[in-house]
Amino acid sequence: MSNRTIQLDDRTYEYLLAHSLREAPALAALRAETASHPKVNMQIAPEQGQFMQMLVRLTGARRAIEVGVFTGYSSLAVMLAMPKDGRLLALDVSEEFTAIARRHWQAAGVADRIELVIAPAKDTLDARIAAGESGRYDFAFIDADKGGYLAYYERLMKLVRPGGLIAVDNTLWSGDVANPENRESDTVALREFNDILHKDPRIELAMLPVGDGLTLARIS
Ligand code: CA
Repeated sequence: MSNRTIQLDDRTYEYLLAHSLREAPALAALRAETASHPKVNMQIAPEQGQFMQMLVRLTGARRAIEVGVFTGYSSLAVMLAMPKDGRLLALDVSEEFTAIARRHWQAAGVADRIELVIAPAKDTLDARIAAGESGRYDFAFIDADKGGYLAYYERLMKLVRPGGLIAVDNTLWSGDVANPENRESDTVALREFNDILHKDPRIELAMLPVGDGLTLARIS
């Protein structure tokens, strides 16, 4: 028994998956296709996808934003958890990766409710704020270039309504954020991001050792 988060060895992780994962066939198909992709580590773990579906349902989200799509696993997970009128604004800069995403969204029958914008996310978020969409979103997920996290977060703090949730991926960065000798730019950016959220009085905060570190910021 432990009163702190346990280390997950392979056997325990397999047990966790075997006793909790309920992956929709469309998600399993997307994961299978991405398994051989050279950047497969950019895909969230399936248990994280399922957890995010739980968050989407708990917040009653009907409008969501994703910053960083890759091949579309988390977008698809979020879409499948939203009601039939749920809509997602999906932001990425890669036509190549998101082509895979589009194909799987199509196959799952959710493509018509996802607006994919291929452009720097900061610009798109600024445009949405300028268009009067502040407070119109319920849920957001940041999983993109780490140097951009703070800029995305500040914009999402406007676009997501009070009581809504911003989830942020990779905030433990394989533990590198805790190693002061690691001064790589992504690590430094994530450390600064984590410090700022820790002190941000506008949110309720949880940092979970799910996947590579998942931070939840609920807007008060
Ligand atoms: Ca990630």
